[in-house]
Amino acid sequence: MIQKVVPIALHRRAQQAATPLPLRGPLAAPGGVLLDGHQRRLHDLRISVTDRCNFRCVYCMPKEIFDKDYQFAPHSAILSFEEITRLARLFVEQGVEKIRLTGGEPLLRKNIERLIEMLAALRRPDGGSLDLTLTTNGSLLKRRAQSLKNAGLSRVTVSLDAIDDGVFRRMNDAEFPVADVLEGIDEAQRVGLGPVKVNMVVRRGLNDGEVVPMARHFRGSGQILRFIEYMDVGSSNGWRMDDVVPSAEVIARLGQFFALEPLESNYAGEVAQRWRYTDGAGELGVISSVTQAFCGTCTRARLATEGSLYTCLFASHGTDFRAPLRTGASDAQLAGLIAAVWGRRDDRYSALRGANTLPRAKIEMSYIGG
Ligand code: SAM
Ligand code: SF4
Ligand code: SF4
Repeated sequence: MIQKVVPIALHRRAQQAATPLPLRGPLAAPGGVLLDGHQRRLHDLRISVTDRCNFRCVYCMPKEIFDKDYQFAPHSAILSFEEITRLARLFVEQGVEKIRLTGGEPLLRKNIERLIEMLAALRRPDGGSLDLTLTTNGSLLKRRAQSLKNAGLSRVTVSLDAIDDGVFRRMNDAEFPVADVLEGIDEAQRVGLGPVKVNMVVRRGLNDGEVVPMARHFRGSGQILRFIEYMDVGSSNGWRMDDVVPSAEVIARLGQFFALEPLESNYAGEVAQRWRYTDGAGELGVISSVTQAFCGTCTRARLATEGSLYTCLFASHGTDFRAPLRTGASDAQLAGLIAAVWGRRDDRYSALRGANTLPRAKIEMSYIGG
């Protein structure tokens, strides 16, 4: 049963409730890395550039809640490109090596290419290149892929939950043909935004029949399909454990049709477990966020649309950066705030999920940035 909540109001309350940290605190050495309470390094920053979306995926922005009366963040409340870039620079100076733009649907943010240019110009203190990526539902990708690449984007991840139009519609509650998303994926690959990763959230009884057809479609394409366990993010999707299809089951189902073998991770802390087709048709991945939590290696911070910083996807509270940004905080003060937030981080929601028996309000994924 879907619970009627008002996530934006919830967010505002959470923002107000967040204890403002003093604008001082540990300043990391330039080029130094920040460690949290569990010795996890701050390595990735996800930035939600808009809380709006042209889809209404049932597991993310169900229509019953995100309807015509829903109050999205007004333009004056969302961070400007200059504000985002200033904060991103301070994160990069403190060890962030990867930035992902997300939302909501990031390609709905007007002139996102300009923001990408600004972020692509940031330099890591160690001289390495910044990995600048974006997650999109693919609906606007075909005509934007080249301009995104020209602006300096490294790669894209595209979400696609079915290869069958009817099932796709049931998942995203929008009238949008699968073929257009596939063309967007191919165009992204063609302009050099690949290898494109394709994310499929698997929800039992809705699109789990698409696991094998999706694998069949992407096998041999050079595009990497990843199956994601349906998560209990936010408070509006009516999540139940019964709706989760564990990755082990996905692999078992695929194993009935294709010969697969596990691959080593590309790097420590990679969230996807990689598999390859033994006949050389490429690789796929599973992301077992529910059944095999990876909190121990979670190195991500999330900057929400209106400038609150969250250190967990399942957070109830964030730390406001917009007010300091707009009231003259210096770079040193903002850097100190980042260090203080990360330093006191203790999040392990998924690892403790079984023990989290008390219901609590969580920020919606479209707002916090998926
Ligand atoms: N609109 C873009 C998109 O769909 O790719 C970017 C934002 S979306 C919130 C980011 C990712 O989160 C998508 O791949 C989406 O499928 C995933 N996601 C959203 N809600 C989820 C849930 N409840 N469980 C698992 N993944 C979810
Ligand atoms: Fe929109 Fe992405 Fe959420 Fe679907 S998953 S509703 S496309 S933000
Ligand atoms: Fe990271 Fe929170 Fe997810 Fe654990 S539950 S992996 S801490 S975002």
